[in-house]
Amino acid sequence: MRAKIYIEGIVQGVGFRPFIYKLAKQFDYKGFVLNNGKGVEIDIEGDDIDAFVKAIYANLPPLAKIDILNIEYLSPKYYKTFEIKHSKSTLKTTFISPDMSICEDCLREMFDKNDRRYLYPFINCTNCGPRYTIIENIPYDRKNTSMKKFKMCEKCEKEYTDPLDRRYHAQPISCYECGPILNLKWKREKEEWKEFREGREEVERIFSKVAEFLKEGKIGAIKGLGGFHLVCDATNEKAVMMLRERKNRPYKPFAMMFKNIKQIEKYCKINVYEKQLITSKERPIVIVAKKTELKGIADNIDRYGVFLPYTPVHYLLFKFIDFPIIATSANISNEPIIRSFEELNKKLGNVMDFVLDYNRDIINACDDSVKTCIDNKILTYRLSRGYAPKSFSINKKIKPNILAVGANQKNTVSLAFENKVILSPHIGDLLTIDAVEYFERTIKTFKRLYSFEPDVIIGDKHPFYESTKWANEQNLPFYQIQHHYAHILSAMFEYGLKGDFLAFSFDGTGYGEDKQIWGGEVFIANIKEFKRLYHFKYFPLVGGEKAIKNPSLTAVNLLKNIDENLAKNYKEYNLIKNLNDKNFLKTSSTGRIFDIVAYLGGFIEKNEYEGYSGMRIESFYNEKLKVKSKKLWKIDKKEIDISELIKFVAKNRGNLELISSVFLNTLAGIVISISKKFDLPVILSGGVFQNKTLMKIILNNINKKIYFNQKTPINDGGISLGQIAWGIENL
Ligand code: ZN
Ligand code: ZN
Ligand code: FE
Repeated sequence: MRAKIYIEGIVQGVGFRPFIYKLAKQFDYKGFVLNNGKGVEIDIEGDDIDAFVKAIYANLPPLAKIDILNIEYLSPKYYKTFEIKHSKSTLKTTFISPDMSICEDCLREMFDKNDRRYLYPFINCTNCGPRYTIIENIPYDRKNTSMKKFKMCEKCEKEYTDPLDRRYHAQPISCYECGPILNLKWKREKEEWKEFREGREEVERIFSKVAEFLKEGKIGAIKGLGGFHLVCDATNEKAVMMLRERKNRPYKPFAMMFKNIKQIEKYCKINVYEKQLITSKERPIVIVAKKTELKGIADNIDRYGVFLPYTPVHYLLFKFIDFPIIATSANISNEPIIRSFEELNKKLGNVMDFVLDYNRDIINACDDSVKTCIDNKILTYRLSRGYAPKSFSINKKIKPNILAVGANQKNTVSLAFENKVILSPHIGDLLTIDAVEYFERTIKTFKRLYSFEPDVIIGDKHPFYESTKWANEQNLPFYQIQHHYAHILSAMFEYGLKGDFLAFSFDGTGYGEDKQIWGGEVFIANIKEFKRLYHFKYFPLVGGEKAIKNPSLTAVNLLKNIDENLAKNYKEYNLIKNLNDKNFLKTSSTGRIFDIVAYLGGFIEKNEYEGYSGMRIESFYNEKLKVKSKKLWKIDKKEIDISELIKFVAKNRGNLELISSVFLNTLAGIVISISKKFDLPVILSGGVFQNKTLMKIILNNINKKIYFNQKTPINDGGISLGQIAWGIENL
């Protein structure tokens, strides 16, 4: 039998052809394999083609991903051998693999005294290492990456050209003789940085010096895959506080990198699902429950963000230290992650005492990904390194080409062309000039990497979003999708859903169709349109955008409108008693309701960072606390009225456990009881559903089909995908 097998997905630059070559040898089948413009083409002759295809699926190389596989049976040609043939054409639309953590084989070699790459800080192979972050142009070839300045030595070249070698066509292949070098700089007196250049013997010296600095409580920066991390000893409170002071970041939690999973278990309570996610080859930061308090890391909340080493450099560092380190993206707040020493020195020169740098350029920045588990389900907070660019193949010919530019916060962009959708890594909040530049640069990069030109652009309805402003200047048809509908569409896209759904879009803030600020919306929605069924009863947002950081006036003003006497108990009463509500925008935002409850209940003074009020409330939840209270909400026509709940919170101010449990149970109760009224499957999306406790209560108490984003961001990081989903179906 002879067949042609056409495969699309992530199948180039991930060792796919050598894998097929080896498999064919095992089966003793003949023919050839080659890369084409869409992926990989296999011409194979043998007794049992189906068994061969099964073996492909069963033994896939770690970074490969098959989206489409088609088999075409043909008449025999009686091939004599099996060969890897040269590419038919340059790859145009083949997916670029995300960067991946160091694999087991490379790790073993790196710690093998007899290996020629013993302790080599840039060891990698076709199964691991940098990809997206080093690529400048397509096709994915060494000359189009930041490895181009390193000429392969003879030994590396031999591995690179041997189809049976694990490093066959591994573009970042290198060794001591030919690869990048480390470089450690530190401040001795004032502005001076000293360097150690690396030779085989110097690696140990460099890392023991870094270890010494960390043990002394110094703060450093270490170059990772997609940018620098700021680091210090996470168990050294003085160092942590110094980092907070120098970085001017008083409260926001820091992520920690641990030596191994055992060390994580010492400081955190983790279950089997969390363990799986933490040790997965994508190596995301995983949000887990605290066990031991480390001062200054994540004060006043009940969780840590933890992750494991993922580059050879990280593993080498942990060979020399035994404590967890803070590893937080090196950037100025609201700016993109920093990629070069020069920029680092310019922007954070006063923060660091030392920098561990290397001379392979980061072409495309990429932050760490952030996820969490709800039992065996996953919530994605940030999709970046290890996962993105995330590619999807769909069963449809896409016309026109679509660029979706996302929201203003946690921005991502998406492309749609041919039968593919690409979601960019996390770009960030478009609140600074640098961030907007990064947004534009990412669009340029994606156009280049996928030879993509948009015919239309889709964005948000908000007129002042930077992404909207940019789209308006592009001279292309521009469609605008309501923010909370886009959240729902993103979940529909992830699961490929069609038909009508009861959709809860509980969120921070977004621009509503009536020009008010939405964020607590219940829709009946399908892929074409949505109908607003209910929303939280509007309340005035006192002080506009400032109310997000400082919700006290909004909170007491709302309380005044419900029960003036209760409002008098708060110091802000005099400030708001004469306000005219008509002067303010109205909102139905669930995120703001969290802030209000957190303030009135006594959980917070200020919303110190995004998500703080929600996490503070969650910290006090007690599932055993069954409070018999009358129903604290009602539906009045289209409005969900929670006046009684707000009164309850104010009356019980200071009783944090009680308020937390009643509030979260009530919110979940609203979702659950509305769900019961409609004979439709349910979708949950929007930033509020990042709340693990709320999600848990809902999932455990709903007895019907329920969908929410797991593999794609449930917050504004998913908006561009929702916009694309609408475009594919309606343009
Ligand atoms: Zn490897
Ligand atoms: Zn070499
Ligand atoms: Fe949103």
